[in-house]
Amino acid sequence: MPDRLAVVAIGGNSLIEDPSQPDIPHQWDAVRTTAAHIAAMCAAGWRVVLTHGNGPQAGFALRRNELAASEMFTEPMDIIVAGTQGTIGYMLQQALANEFNVRNMDRQVVTLLTQTQVDVGDPAFDTPSKPIGGYLTPEAAEQFRAEGWDVIEDAGRGMRRVVASPPPQQVVELPAIRSLVGAGFVVIAGGGGGVPVSIHKNREYRGAPAVIDKDRTAALIAGALHADLFLISTAVERVALHYNTPQQQWLDHMTPQEALHYQQEGHFARGSMMPKIEAVVSFVTETGGEAIITNPPNILRALEGQAGTHITVDSAGLTGKIEETHGKESQ
Ligand code: ADP
Ligand code: MG
Repeated sequence: MPDRLAVVAIGGNSLIEDPSQPDIPHQWDAVRTTAAHIAAMCAAGWRVVLTHGNGPQAGFALRRNELAASEMFTEPMDIIVAGTQGTIGYMLQQALANEFNVRNMDRQVVTLLTQTQVDVGDPAFDTPSKPIGGYLTPEAAEQFRAEGWDVIEDAGRGMRRVVASPPPQQVVELPAIRSLVGAGFVVIAGGGGGVPVSIHKNREYRGAPAVIDKDRTAALIAGALHADLFLISTAVERVALHYNTPQQQWLDHMTPQEALHYQQEGHFARGSMMPKIEAVVSFVTETGGEAIITNPPNILRALEGQAGTHITVDSAGLTGKIEETHGKESQ
C-alpha cells in the first residue's frame, strides 16, 4: 500500500491532555505523543497532510488580549489564528522531524501558513454567534466594541465577544499544499481551519472577523487532493449513538446515509461531533474515499480496521476488516 494519501485532522482539544495543566511543557508532551502516532502512520506507507484545531489555544491568546487590554493594543481574529498556526505548526513540525530522525526515515516536514477564503456576503456574518474569549467587564466590552468587535450578552452569564463561523469556500494555498505533497513533504496546513480571509475590491484578500471550523476545512483539503483517507483524530476512540447515556452504543462503521439519519435523530452534539460527521459525510460522498474518526493512540489500530468509526459508501472499509463490536465498551 505505498504512497496512499491521508489527510489527518488533529483536534485542538486533543493537544491539551489535561485542561487543568494547559502550559507549554504539557502541550509539548501531547504534541510529541501525537507526532509519534503520525510518524508510525508514515512508516506504514502513508503520505500525510496534517491539519489541526486551535480552539483552546486561540482561547488562551484571546484571554491574554483581554488581560492586557488596558496597556496593549488587541489583536483581531485573523492575527490570532495566524499566530496559533505558527505555534502549533512549529511544535508539530519539530516533534515529527524528531520522530523521523529516531526512525531513520528520510521525510521532511513543513508548516504552511494557510488562508481560507470565506464569503463576506454569507448570512453567517449578519448575526455573528460563536462566542470566543472570556467574559468581559463592562469597560473591556466597551473597548472591544470601539475596536470593531461584536459583543453580546451570552445566555445571561455576561458579555462576550462573538464572531461568525461561515463555511470555508476555498483554501488559498491549495496549489502549494499539492506541490509540497507531490515533492514528498509531510505538510501541516489549514491549522485552526485556516486564517479567515475574504476578497475585497480590486481582488484583494483581507482578514475576516471569523473562525472557520477546522473539520470543514480539512474535508475541503481532503476532497481537493482526492485523498484516499480522511482521518479525524479527536478525544474519543469512536463515535457513539446515545453518547454519554446508559444506552451508549459505539459505532464501528456507518455509511453517509446512516450518518445523516443518526444526525437527524440528534445523536451528534452541535459544535463538537456534528461538524465532524458533516465533514466526513461530504468527503466520502464526494470522493468515494474512506473516513475514520478515532483518538491519537488508536490511529494505527484504526488503519488496520481494529478501532475507530469507519465511514464508507459501502460496508467494507479500505483499511481492512471492520469488527462487529456494537454495544461493547471501547476506549
Ligand atoms: P476536537 O478538538 O477534536 O474538535 P471536540 O470536543 O470539538 O474535539 O469534539 C469531540 C467531542 O465530541 C468528543 O470528545 C465527545 O465529547 C463529543 N461528542 C459529542 N457527541 C458525540 C458522539 N455521538 N459520539 C462521540 N463523541 C461525541
Ligand atoms: Mg471541535
